[in-house]
Amino acid sequence: MEKRFVYADNAATTRVRPEVLARMLPYFTEVYGNPSGLYSVSRDAAVELDRARAKIAGLLNCEAREIYFTSGGSESDNAAIAGIARKRGRGHIITSKIEHHAVLNTVKALEKEGFSATYVDVDENGIIKLDELKKAIRDDTILITVMYANNEIGTIQPIKEIGELARAHKIPFHTDAVQAAGHLNIDVRAENIDMLSLSAHKFGGPKGCGVLYVRRGVNPRPLIYGGGQESGRRAGTENLASIVGMAEALELSLSGLEQKNARVTEMRDRLIDGILKIPYTRLNGDRTRRLPGNVNVSVEYIEGESLILLLDLNGICASSGSACTTGSLDPSHVLLALGLSHEVAHGSLRLTINDETTDDDIDYILDTLPRVVDRLRAMSPVWERRPE
Ligand SMILES: *Cc1c(COP(=O)(O)O)cnc(C)c1O
Repeated sequence: MEKRFVYADNAATTRVRPEVLARMLPYFTEVYGNPSGLYSVSRDAAVELDRARAKIAGLLNCEAREIYFTSGGSESDNAAIAGIARKRGRGHIITSKIEHHAVLNTVKALEKEGFSATYVDVDENGIIKLDELKKAIRDDTILITVMYANNEIGTIQPIKEIGELARAHKIPFHTDAVQAAGHLNIDVRAENIDMLSLSAHKFGGPKGCGVLYVRRGVNPRPLIYGGGQESGRRAGTENLASIVGMAEALELSLSGLEQKNARVTEMRDRLIDGILKIPYTRLNGDRTRRLPGNVNVSVEYIEGESLILLLDLNGICASSGSACTTGSLDPSHVLLALGLSHEVAHGSLRLTINDETTDDDIDYILDTLPRVVDRLRAMSPVWERRPE
């Protein structure tokens, strides 16, 4: 098969949609006024800012004044978690073992400041154990934060149930929905969500721009002090071009979502079925309760990094939950939480596709991957010595 370029790392970031870029451009050179200004080029900017806020609020089913713009998913996670903790001053935080580092490392930093935390386990498919979450609730629990969908293995958590549980105990509930926003329909009201993080670059918008939804009545302390932007909750001149692009990208992503997801899911399943035909492979994460575009498999007897490099030589962009790619020696905390051994976790491969992916791309991956795996295994002494 002829070599082609296939981008299959959409969980890391996405290409900005051309319509989104076009929508952003005037805000650099025409409507460039500071939205706080009193002259017309600023008033136009302020109007657009309001419009973007209202659009995003409508898409999440909340009020415009509950939407705060941030610099992305990491800031939103920090602002929600540290914001509640610092307002309360002390207490206990519940999260899961498979959160993104933007959540995990924020909670760990708070533990160093004197807060306590429980990291709830997931089952072998990566779904949070609700009974354990329930048991973890204490009188001094000040926050529950559980991600909507996992960035490595794509599992979708029972958000509505967690929200119900939190509400019954009057504990604020935050969800990192960075992988879910623009890919699944989210309704913060119906799902009992008090705070939600999203990031534009994960759904065809620009990098460095995100949202923190905060339900009225929930008041995290600000992370960034300065001017009175965002109702005093997040200082700094608004990144208007990106905010307009983000609103456009979210709207585009969610329009016709059902049809798009049906197609993406079909491609995903074809990819999974094809890859699992390679001997000594296993799927990581739940087969059905998973993001439409997520494939995560362990390929035994090879190193994830070598696989990624060889795929890259063949034009395929993918990622691995193993060592060097993440700059640490430990395999992914998410794969270990599933109960995988270090060896198996090291040979993991994540392919994340979206509605820009084509059937030809899938054919190309399915043609290339088995050959690459064969080549790597042929060079591997552990493959030679594998138990029969
Ligand atoms: C990408 C990602 C983040 C971080 O978002 P940035 O906008 O890159 O800071 C946080 N959580 C999850 C689940 C992510 O996938």
